[in-house]
Amino acid sequence: MNRVLIVEDEDHLAAGLKLNLEAEGYAADVEDTGEAALERLVDGGGFDVVLLDVMLPGLDGFEVVRRLREARQFVPVMLLTARSHTDDVLRGFEAGADDYLPKPFDLSILLARIRGLLRRRRWLRGNEAGQPAEADECSFAGRHVDFRNQVLRRDRAEQPLTLMEATLLRYLVQHAGETVSRRTLLEQVWGVRQDTDTRTVDNFVARLRRYIEAEPAQPRHLLTVRGVGYRFVVEPED
Ligand code: CA
Repeated sequence: MNRVLIVEDEDHLAAGLKLNLEAEGYAADVEDTGEAALERLVDGGGFDVVLLDVMLPGLDGFEVVRRLREARQFVPVMLLTARSHTDDVLRGFEAGADDYLPKPFDLSILLARIRGLLRRRRWLRGNEAGQPAEADECSFAGRHVDFRNQVLRRDRAEQPLTLMEATLLRYLVQHAGETVSRRTLLEQVWGVRQDTDTRTVDNFVARLRRYIEAEPAQPRHLLTVRGVGYRFVVEPED
């Protein structure tokens, strides 16, 4: 049974979500502050997905997810935001969130998005039928990426990757040599079909470059294709 932590300060909303998730076969717990959520999650807590309200008293949702990632906790986090402002979405992804849903939302949409997060995680771990086994790991330029465990190794250092960072890198690696548009990446990696700001993609690419490029400002593997999107190159020619 998948476990969901609901972090929401509005009691009726939290209770309604819990009831509905349980009716769908999830185990659901509620915390009503960011501080309490961090305490539950900082040593993992055994949750599969966190639904995290942005507007909380005390620590807000952005800060909660930022601290979780800082503490190297990479449980998939979906932000619930009252405003669908692109700046909020961007800020959420920057903080380390995996997905977001503007409030108010339909239950069916929430459930679909939760399934999407769980599916992405399974896909990453290579359990989905038809996924080539060789894509579970890859090496280039002295880096070794283990997608199953969401970790990038370089020399003796380990860099954990969030679900979205690992999913994006895996998609780029699987399409190595091809130019992929920002729009395609948003659809295929984030599952976002709305008119989301494509800067989200640029932001994640900048983060991946810090992990994989010797000189992030002069990338040799994760190339910008001006006006279109990006191309991943395993072995640069020169
Ligand atoms: Ca709230």
